[in-house]
Amino acid sequence: MATKVLLAEPRGFCAGVEMAIKALTWMVQVFEPPVYCYHEIVHNAAVVTAFEHAGVVFINDINDAPEGSPVMLSAHGSAPEVVSAAAARAAVMVDAVCPLVTKVHHEVRRMADQGYDIIYVGHEGHDEATGAIAEAPHAAQLVDPRVGLDTFEATPGAKVALLAQTTLGLYEWEGVLGSATERYPDLWTARKSDLCYATTNRQLAIQKLAEGSDVLLVVGSENSSNTQALVRVGRNAGIPSYRIDGPEGIDPLWLDHADVVGVTAGASAPDQRVQSVIEAISPSEGTELVRVTQEDEYFPLPPQLRKFMQTLQALIEGGFACRTPGEYGPVELDRHLSATDALTILGV
Ligand code: SF4
Repeated sequence: MATKVLLAEPRGFCAGVEMAIKALTWMVQVFEPPVYCYHEIVHNAAVVTAFEHAGVVFINDINDAPEGSPVMLSAHGSAPEVVSAAAARAAVMVDAVCPLVTKVHHEVRRMADQGYDIIYVGHEGHDEATGAIAEAPHAAQLVDPRVGLDTFEATPGAKVALLAQTTLGLYEWEGVLGSATERYPDLWTARKSDLCYATTNRQLAIQKLAEGSDVLLVVGSENSSNTQALVRVGRNAGIPSYRIDGPEGIDPLWLDHADVVGVTAGASAPDQRVQSVIEAISPSEGTELVRVTQEDEYFPLPPQLRKFMQTLQALIEGGFACRTPGEYGPVELDRHLSATDALTILGV
């Protein structure tokens, strides 16, 4: 039986996931179901199931959203043709792309416009990689970090830029960065890597956990890229590391000889799942927080949703002659609502 759980801080929801979950919660509260969401809003089975119960239909082809329906696009970022098709057919279209993914989309377009060949380091078939490369498919080539640069061929004489999926493992990024810098001495890459703050912080926390844990449990779903990266970081740090969706996924054999269990969660995993994992482990000496940094990033709701809600609020207040100048509305109060609160409304 485990004596202690070392709990990583930060873990779980990042600012992009917070924003996307709250935005979709607003959508299901404001519109009659179904609300259509292009791709899973975030890659987490519990979150997706909660929204399905609340009336969201997840689609992988934007044409599956009936004309005139409310449509949301996921946090991972969508191809430009998907964004315009959604805007054309939806009554209200809200793009919940994370601003840090949007930054990479801008970089892809900018470097392609300047004539660069682009190495985009990411995972084949992941929604974020697919959406980013679609910004300039003629210029950007996907390079899997596990394969490295073997598959990349630059046009003779072309300048080369190196960009990345935001959720890569740090060591995966550094591996490709090292070989690309060696191969292309004039390589362009963003001054601060495309790996987002949440990815980096959660991976640094694992390195700290690994110093004192016998085994590591990472809460998150199979198709969550940053969750999988956390498992690989744990294994690279030399401790047995396992991904689980929740307590039901724990194999008792993993904990057989484990005195101290490290616990963390991917950026799309609800903290309720983490708490039930700790309850299932039931450490005799309790839980100790291992904090590497304090996160206070906040991303406001998507502009289309803010505008829609402000218009709605003005209509209601105007209609009932109850406008109170200076009074805050739901958009202004959003910063004080967490995605965990939003999921509680949905019954997670
Ligand atoms: S993991 Fe990073 S890029 Fe992805 S949604 Fe969260 S903050 Fe944005």
